[in-house]
Amino acid sequence: MIVAVDGPAGAGKSTISRLLAGRYGWTYLDTGAMYRALTLLALEQGIDPSDAGQLEQLTRYMEVSFQPGPDGMPRVFAGCREVTEEIRSPEVNRKVSEVSAHAGVREEMVRRQRQLMSAGDMVADGRDIGTVVWPEAEVKIFLTAANSERARRRRLELEEKGHDISQEKMEKEISARDEFDSGRPVAPLVAAEDAVTVDTTDLTIDQVVGKVAEIVDSRR
Ligand code: C5P
Repeated sequence: MIVAVDGPAGAGKSTISRLLAGRYGWTYLDTGAMYRALTLLALEQGIDPSDAGQLEQLTRYMEVSFQPGPDGMPRVFAGCREVTEEIRSPEVNRKVSEVSAHAGVREEMVRRQRQLMSAGDMVADGRDIGTVVWPEAEVKIFLTAANSERARRRRLELEEKGHDISQEKMEKEISARDEFDSGRPVAPLVAAEDAVTVDTTDLTIDQVVGKVAEIVDSRR
């Protein structure tokens, strides 16, 4: 069974998807991490986020893989180098949407994601899983939350890693990224017609997992 979890930044997609996958013993695929790893490598190599040709080339030869960490959190690798922390830096946050908007980059990423997902039971999260990557998913969830709450969650996440950022700045950054992701011509962030929308603003993590698990159970 494939469970597609899409939605804007900070809605809780990765936490919920990881816990849900753990609950059923399935694999969790974080497609945002793939775009983030690409962005990190591009920044390191001095490739401009607007340079579609170079980014496409980099997407084709870069190797991204995942391994479960000791705490259950997936570790992300570019080649044999671990980049789990680096791909969540403020710099990558700022550039990842522009890098992800190129059609050629997405084509290669989607090809790889479909290959990974064809292995079987999986919870995959991103922006276009239910609409483009795996439209045949048995369960499609669109997770969302109020802008201020999503910014608060992301701010706390960054704070834990030693990056200080004001609530106001975070709200602006998140809105800018959502606008960019929703407005791009290729695979924009949009709920699939047959997706169930879950607003996580006032729900605990356990409540959201419970709600989504009910939907999964009803379709199994
Ligand atoms: O999910 P996360 O916030 O890590 O995603 C980072 C960025 O990667 C998103 O803002 C979006 O620009 C891009 N992305 C995408 N398609 C996906 C997953 C992520 O365009 N399936």
